Amino acid sequence: MSEKEKSKPEVKTIRPPLERINIRCRVCFIVDGYYPDEKKCRHCGARLFEIDRY
Ligand SMILES: [Zn+2]
Repeated sequence: MSEKEKSKPEVKTIRPPLERINIRCRVCFIVDGYYPDEKKCRHCGARLFEIDRY
């Protein structure tokens, strides 16, 4: 392996650990911690809104 190849950047992307935020559901009013990519209430399945963060 040549030096040029060694210095190539890794192809796979390393995602930083996601931070959970507390969001209160507009339907069942249960506050729970959700990751940013979670868009549904885990209690009633209703849509979550990030502006409802508790
Ligand atoms: Zn809910």
